[in-house]
Amino acid sequence: MNNSNHTPSSTNPGDEAAPGTPGTGENICPICNGSGRTDAQECKNCGGTGKVIEGIGGA
Ligand SMILES: [Zn+2]
Repeated sequence: MNNSNHTPSSTNPGDEAAPGTPGTGENICPICNGSGRTDAQECKNCGGTGKVIEGIGGA
């Protein structure tokens, strides 16, 4: 792996935390509703994954 300018486990704009962060979990992206796309483009909120990392248990 050679990611000079990018972190290996990159987060997306819609992520509240990096994947694997305690107290967080995957959630369906509220922008694209899990489709990974908005209009005919990749959803920028989740980066096209259809999922975002959100805090769970309270808040
Ligand atoms: Zn999305």
